Amino acid sequence: MKEKMPSSVQFVRGVGPRYAEVLKKLNINTVKDLLYYFPRTYQDRSQFTPIKYIRPGYEVTVQGEIIKIEENKIRKGLSILKATITDGSDVLNGVWFNQNYIKKQLKKGQTYIFSGKLNEKSFRFRKKEISNPVFEKVDKGDSIHTGRIVPIYPLTSGVTQKRLRTIIYNALNDYAHHLTDYLPGFIRKKYKFPDISRSIWGLHFPENREHYIYSRRRLAFEELFFLQLLVLKRKKGIIESRGINHKDEGEVIKKFLKLLPFRLTAAQKRVWREIKADMEKPTPMQRLLQGDVGSGKTIIAALALIETMANGYQGVFMAPTEILAEQHYLKLKDLLEPLGYRTALLVGGITGSQRENIERGIEEKKIDLIVGTHTLFQERINYFSLGLVVIDEQHRFGVEQRFKLEKKGDNPDVLVMTATPIPRTMALTIYGDLDLSIIDELPPGRSPVITTWRTQNSRKRIYSFVKEKLEEGRQAYVVCPVIEPSEELEVVSALEIKEKLEDKYLKGYNVGLLHGKLPPEEKKQVMEDFRQGVIDVLVSTTVVEVGVDVPNATIMIIENADRFGLAQLHQLRGRVGRGKYQSYCILIGNPTTEEGKRRLKVMTSLNDGFEIADEDLKIRGPGEFFGTRQHGIPDLKVASLIKDKKLLQLARQEAFNIIYSTRDWQDKYRNLKERIDELDLKI
Ligand code: ADP
Ligand code: MG
Repeated sequence: MKEKMPSSVQFVRGVGPRYAEVLKKLNINTVKDLLYYFPRTYQDRSQFTPIKYIRPGYEVTVQGEIIKIEENKIRKGLSILKATITDGSDVLNGVWFNQNYIKKQLKKGQTYIFSGKLNEKSFRFRKKEISNPVFEKVDKGDSIHTGRIVPIYPLTSGVTQKRLRTIIYNALNDYAHHLTDYLPGFIRKKYKFPDISRSIWGLHFPENREHYIYSRRRLAFEELFFLQLLVLKRKKGIIESRGINHKDEGEVIKKFLKLLPFRLTAAQKRVWREIKADMEKPTPMQRLLQGDVGSGKTIIAALALIETMANGYQGVFMAPTEILAEQHYLKLKDLLEPLGYRTALLVGGITGSQRENIERGIEEKKIDLIVGTHTLFQERINYFSLGLVVIDEQHRFGVEQRFKLEKKGDNPDVLVMTATPIPRTMALTIYGDLDLSIIDELPPGRSPVITTWRTQNSRKRIYSFVKEKLEEGRQAYVVCPVIEPSEELEVVSALEIKEKLEDKYLKGYNVGLLHGKLPPEEKKQVMEDFRQGVIDVLVSTTVVEVGVDVPNATIMIIENADRFGLAQLHQLRGRVGRGKYQSYCILIGNPTTEEGKRRLKVMTSLNDGFEIADEDLKIRGPGEFFGTRQHGIPDLKVASLIKDKKLLQLARQEAFNIIYSTRDWQDKYRNLKERIDELDLKI
C-alpha cells in the first residue's frame, strides 16, 4: 500500500458516519478530498486590533469576553439580541435581529471572536456595533481557531466553521505526511518548492504569510504542470499517428472562390492557408478556428470541406442543435451543390425510410457531405471514407464526443470552430492539443451594432422605434429568458411578450414564435418564414443564440438581459449587424446585482468579442467562464489562469521538456505517468 491513509473520510478523527454524509454535500468523500478542500479565505487572528482602535469601513476581527447579553422584544415579530464584549480597551456590541437560536451559542464570561464591519451610523453616536457578526467561541489553550492565521472554509448546512476546521486539522495531522509527492524531485529543487505535505499544511494553516505564498505557488504549479503534461501528451499522440494526406486541389478551390459574391478578407485567407497546410500533412489536423460572430467561419469550413471532397473523401459538419444544423445545411448546400457535391442533412427528426436512405448513401458514398447533430456519430452510421470533420460551436460539445467522431474514420482531419473568443494564453492551456487559427477581422462594410440599455418601463418607446424600422422594411428579434410565464421567476416570457406585441405594441405586424419545444417541422417553417420576411418580428428563447443568419434583421431586443451571461449576450447581438443596414441591440433589464449592471454596461461600451471575453473573465473568473469539465480540463483548485500566467509558462516549459526531450520519460517518471493516466480518465 502506497498511501497509509484510509480511503473514506468517515475514518478521520471527529467525522464518523453522520458527518461523512454532511461532507458528501461538499463533494468530500475521501481523506484526500478533505485534505484538498481548501479555504475560501483566511483571517489573521495572530494579533487582534484592540477594540479601542477599530473604525468603520473595513472588515475587523476582535477578541473579547462577553460581559452582557440582552434580548429586547421591540414589538411583535421583531426581537433584538445584543451581546457586549470587551478586550479591556473598549466595548463592542454584536447585534442580531430575529435570530433567537444565536442566543444559545453565546455565554457570558466566555471569550469570543467577532468579525464584521462596524455600523457607520451607530459609530457616529460613539457606539461600536456590528450587525450579524461572524463569531466563534474561543476555548482556553485553543490553537486551531485563534492566535494564528485561521482558515475560513466554504460551508454547507449541518457543519460549522469550527467543526470543519477541527476535522481538517485532524486529517492534516494524521495523514498529510502520507501523501504521495508527484512532483519530480529535480523540479522541486529547481524552484525551491516545499514538499507536498508542507504545502498542503501551508494552504490550510499557514504559519505566516510566506508559508502560505510558497505553498500556494507550489500547488498552483503542480496543477498547471499536470494539465500541461496531459495536453502535450495527447498532442504528441496525435502528431505521431498517421492521418489523411490531402493533396492540393487548387483548381476546384479557385472555381469556388470565383462563384462567391465577395472576396475573402485577409484574415480568412491567412487561416485558410493554415488549415490547408495542415490538411496536406500526413499527420491528422487538430485545429481550432476562432472568430467572432459574423467573421465568416462558414466559408472557411466550406473550403476545407471542398478540399476533402475533391480528394475523394466524405466531409462531415456537426452543429450543436437541429436548428443550427438545418441552417448550416441550407447554406453549405447552396455553396457546394453548384460544384457537383451531393449533400444531406441528418438530424434526430429525420426518421424511417428517409433516414435509411441517407444512412445507405453515407455507407455507399452516394453522399459527399453530411451535415447534422451528434446523431452523426451514432454506432450504426458507417462512413465510406471520412476525410474531414468540422465541428461548429465547440463549447457545446464534450471533448469525449469529439474523440468519438474522430474514431469513425482513419484519423480524419478535425476542424473545430468557435465564436467564443478565448484569450490566447488560455486557449493554449485548455485547447493545448489543438492548433489555433484566429479570424481577427470582420468582412468589410459592417458598421458596429449600436447597443443601448433600457429599463422595463420604456417598452413603449422601444417598440415605437421598432415600428419605425419595420416600416422601413427591416425585421427584429425579441429574445426572452423563458417560454412560459412562471410564478417563481419574475421575468418576461416569450408567450407573454408575443401577445403584448400582437395586441398592443406592434398591432398589424406578423409576430412569430420560436423555441426549443416546438416540433422540428414547425421550427423549420418559422425560421423559413422569418428568412423570407413573412414574419416581421421573431420572439424566441435563446435558440437563435448561435448561427442564425438573416441580414435583413437589424434589431435585437433582449428582455431581462441581466439574466444572460456576457458571452451569450454577445452571441445574441451577433445575430444582427450582418447586412448593409445600421443595426441595433436593445437590452431591457432592471438588474438587481452589481454584476448584472456591470455586464450590461460592458455590452453598451464594447463590441469586440475578445475584449468582452476579457471582461467576462474578470467578472466571473475562469472556472465559471469555462463552465464544467466539458472543455476537457480538470477544475483548477488553486491555480488561476489569470493570476498565474508566469507560472503557467514555467509549467508548460517543464512539461514540454519532459514529454518531448526526455527519452523514455514514461519509465523514468513512473509516478508522473500514473498521475496523468489518472487525470486522463477523469476528464
Ligand atoms: P460566422 O459563422 O463566423 O458567424 P458566417 O460565416 O455566418 O459567420 O458569415 C457571416 C456573413 O458574412 C455571411 O452572410 C457570409 O456570407 C458573409 N461573409 C463571409 N465572408 C465574407 C467576406 N469576406 N466578405 C463579405 N461577406 C462575407
Ligand atoms: Mg457560425
